[in-house]
Amino acid sequence: AYVIAQPCVDVKDKACVDECPVDCIYEGKRSLYINPNECVDCGACEPVCPTEAIFYEDDLPEEWEWYKDAAVEFFAEV
Ligand code: SF4
Repeated sequence: AYVIAQPCVDVKDKACVDECPVDCIYEGKRSLYINPNECVDCGACEPVCPTEAIFYEDDLPEEWEWYKDAAVEFFAEV
């Protein structure tokens, strides 16, 4: 799945939401989250993010690896 990392925090531009063909990008309190169970890995969201916050899970910078778990936790709560 693709993952939204730190640059989205308090920005939530939402350009990605319009691009996602399966509507799997959801709004949290301070950031947007991609549901890893719904994401089809199409990559459409990644280039449109003005803050470059979106990464394929294997391409996440090391310091942002934990955003993968943050997304899993976010969707576990709803
Ligand atoms: Fe949606 Fe595709 Fe981005 Fe996954 S990679 S969140 S399916 S636009």
